[in-house]
Amino acid sequence: MEKKKLQKKVSDYLGFIAQQPKGFVYRDDSATQSSDTTKLHNNKQQIELLFCGHVNCNACPLATQGRTQVVFGHGNTNARIMFIGEGPGRDEDEQGFPFIGRAGQLLTKIIEAMKLTRESVYISNVVKCRPPNNRVPLPTESNTCKKILLFKEIDIIKPHIICTLGSTAAQAILGDDLKITKARGIFHTYKGIPVMPTYHPAYLLRNPDAKKIVWLDMKNVMEKLNE
Ligand code: URA
Repeated sequence: MEKKKLQKKVSDYLGFIAQQPKGFVYRDDSATQSSDTTKLHNNKQQIELLFCGHVNCNACPLATQGRTQVVFGHGNTNARIMFIGEGPGRDEDEQGFPFIGRAGQLLTKIIEAMKLTRESVYISNVVKCRPPNNRVPLPTESNTCKKILLFKEIDIIKPHIICTLGSTAAQAILGDDLKITKARGIFHTYKGIPVMPTYHPAYLLRNPDAKKIVWLDMKNVMEKLNE
């Protein structure tokens, strides 16, 4: 491994250790666990290690535009489905978890209507810091954050399906030229993973008639999950 990369890995790891409670003992169980159990632990550890290197991230302008904290992805790190939104709003910025405000409550209803639970899925955003006044993230912010975090989260979790919520997330994963009205409802692929773009729950709050369309998209997702 290149010297710089190794130094970064070591410093991320030391950051992770420094954040553990008093008495924390690191156990490398990999030699004694079945490969499935090892994977379960590894995904969680890898995500924690990834995040702990960015708790005070200042890689893009959002770091200095009023964020309270970095809002990382949350949920089951072995999830079969990953939902990706745009970026934290006020509630998320205050409480530190994605999708917990009004749009998040609607997302929870959608997840439960799919006979899933929030605990069984993984939820993240393109940008992890709240844009001022909830504006759409600028390309430089999205591009920076997705490279530093989102793409790595996907690589670790390896979901069977990704569901992008709204234009920003669909464009971050599938390309900037994508138009959500044309792209939604159809499976696309990212690194071999089926991606279903659909409307953002915040859009559904403003346009309740579009809920029917999102439900059609979610039925396709459920079918694919059961294949
Ligand atoms: N909207 C998003 O895109 N993400 C959140 O976490 C909350 C609202």
